[in-house]
Amino acid sequence: MARGFSEKKLVIASHNPGKVREISGLLQGFGVDVVSAGDLGLPEPVEDGESFIANAEIKARAAATGSGLPALADDSGLCVHGLGGDPGIYSARWAGPDKDFTLAMKTVNEKLGDQKDRTAHFIAALALAWPDGHLEVFEGRVDGTLVWPPSGHNGFGYDAMFRPDGHQITFGNFDPADKHNISHRADAFRQLVAACFQ
Ligand code: IMP
Repeated sequence: MARGFSEKKLVIASHNPGKVREISGLLQGFGVDVVSAGDLGLPEPVEDGESFIANAEIKARAAATGSGLPALADDSGLCVHGLGGDPGIYSARWAGPDKDFTLAMKTVNEKLGDQKDRTAHFIAALALAWPDGHLEVFEGRVDGTLVWPPSGHNGFGYDAMFRPDGHQITFGNFDPADKHNISHRADAFRQLVAACFQ
């Protein structure tokens, strides 16, 4: 059985303001006061785990230890089945130093070449760590197909080339609220809330 969250304050273990905003929004209504690792001046740990869960755990544990408060971290990416799961935990890195996702999507498409299998999934891992060392982890997933050329300007990252199963349009063309209902991140958050915030 998962440990329930009964504290008043939580650190969001991220230095990315967009991510902090999104996670704060998802936690609204649970009566938790949130503060970010960036605001607390905590150092960014090296993400050298070999899985999404491992990287989320590294970030959550570092923030919990550094702050003395419970901390929540996420890690996510795109796994392309025809590429053996790449770019996976290296999804952000494939965009290069300029964070150019047009380039990252082009790289994925070129590596796939004329392969028939264009299926892929997004993963979002969440890790909630307490200062006493206790840890809860959750993994959300959404499956889909990669299309070319990319389509739509909503979303971010690889959204414009990802068409979720059961839909005719890419995440790039989704209304953001609709994406938030079916995304890998929403799936992981539902699991977190059911296990720790009910
Ligand atoms: P993170 O900040 O280490 O979790 O990096 C996640 C990377 O995976 C992002 O930079 C995106 O490239 C990709 N990614 C994760 N979630 C999504 C999504 O919902 N849409 C598009 N790309 C995503």
